[in-house]
Amino acid sequence: MRRPMVAGNWKMHGTRASVAELINGLSHLVLPSGVDVAVFPPCLHINQVIDGLQGQSISVGAQNSAVESLQGALTGEIAPSQLVDAGCSLVLVGHSERRQIMGERDEMLIRKFAAAQACGLIPVLCVGETLEQREAGKTLEVVGRQLGSIIEELGVGAFAKAIIAYEPVWAIGTGLTASPQQAQDVHAAIRAQLAAENSEVAQGVRLLYGGSVKAANAVELFGMPDIDGGLIGGASLNADEFGAICRAAGN
Ligand code: PEP
Repeated sequence: MRRPMVAGNWKMHGTRASVAELINGLSHLVLPSGVDVAVFPPCLHINQVIDGLQGQSISVGAQNSAVESLQGALTGEIAPSQLVDAGCSLVLVGHSERRQIMGERDEMLIRKFAAAQACGLIPVLCVGETLEQREAGKTLEVVGRQLGSIIEELGVGAFAKAIIAYEPVWAIGTGLTASPQQAQDVHAAIRAQLAAENSEVAQGVRLLYGGSVKAANAVELFGMPDIDGGLIGGASLNADEFGAICRAAGN
């Protein structure tokens, strides 16, 4: 039985004051005990969030990390080992905004994924197709290639300690959500791709859906058999809404 997870990606949002407010809101939530909850603040606010959420059962992760595990001469980057030192347990790898805007390619993401795992961080690999790719009938090919690049280089066993987030690019921050069946179809294909190599890994790995998830659509999405929770962007900036999404995952 996979334990559901709801993770909030705060992206490049927040000031010290607004983050303090969000921490306060999160601290007062009644969260379901059967759901893992995590937040991914901007790096600048990770220490503030870890301090502020002490004693709460909310994990903290980073939105990005370096291709090298250990600290060193790599200006502007943050090493996975530094994130562990700060108290992080997770890191996003390959969010579509980084793939598209920062030009991160599969080769770089393989290195980031491996470097994170080498330090004991759990990578959350984000995969997903653009609208153009979906309309061209290439969704499963694109997602399969993004996932396959990691399997090929690091082996399917790497997913024994990783999470995958399926996030259709056309649904991120747009208000458009994949229908529960559209999302389920891709999640099932991801699990089947892993199962072709190792059924135990495939059955154990958590697959999160991301793309305009709100409290209003979460129950239906999380009710699908291969959807184990969500990666939440915009709605995670509102503690009450985020709490309601977490409770939906506990149903
Ligand atoms: C995201 O950025 O990971 C995301 C899912 O964003 P949103 O929920 O705002 O679509």
